[in-house]
Amino acid sequence: MRNKIIAGNWKMYTTVEEGVALVKALDAGLAGNDLANKTVIVIPPALHIVSVLAEAKKAGKVHLGAQNCHYEKEGAFTGEISPRMLKDVGVEYVVLGHSERRQYFKEDNGLLAVKTGAVLAENLIPIYCCGETLEQRESGKYKEVVQQQIEEGLFGLSAENISKVIVAYEPVWAIGTGKTASPEQAQEMHHFIRSLFATKYGQDIAANLHILYGGSVKPNNAKELFSQPDIDGGLVGGAALKAEDFLGIINA
Ligand code: PEP
Repeated sequence: MRNKIIAGNWKMYTTVEEGVALVKALDAGLAGNDLANKTVIVIPPALHIVSVLAEAKKAGKVHLGAQNCHYEKEGAFTGEISPRMLKDVGVEYVVLGHSERRQYFKEDNGLLAVKTGAVLAENLIPIYCCGETLEQRESGKYKEVVQQQIEEGLFGLSAENISKVIVAYEPVWAIGTGKTASPEQAQEMHHFIRSLFATKYGQDIAANLHILYGGSVKPNNAKELFSQPDIDGGLVGGAALKAEDFLGIINA
């Protein structure tokens, strides 16, 4: 049985103080919750990680992720943060290929393949995002787009490494728009993604793969989405910024 993973991507929101307060509120809300079958991850701006993690460690309920990283261990790459640095401060997960990185920072599948390898080399867990734009969905080519993102970004990995990766399916038209994929649309894509892994790596790896859904997940739609057979939790943006909403999603 795959456990559920609920990850909150704070994007470029919150001050450090607000971020620490958010984790404090999450911990208070999770007190007494049995998280044996759930992993809760917060993914703050990089600048906040050390302070937020210090707070998160007190209750030990919330794990830390980063929103991006460079692919080198160190070097003359002004403004960048390496997987080694993230590992050093206690980060466990790294989001790669978020649609905003693909769109605004022109990250492509080839670059993401290199980043994924670098993250795994530091024993961090990549959360690899894929998903089609509205135009690609309406053209009917959405499965091909996602297949290419997965094949080019991930399928160079060994079976051992691929089994550590988490995939997030995030249709771009649903991110931050309030427009959620229907449970049936999301399930169709999650099933399709799992079948790609089954063909490439075999049934066992595919059956153990976590595939998160992202795109306007809210407390009132999370339960239906997360009860689909191939949806293993969510990557949450806007609703992760309010403890009450994020807790509502975690408890869905
Ligand atoms: C995201 O940032 O990955 C996301 C899914 O955002 P939202 O939940 O706001 O659509």
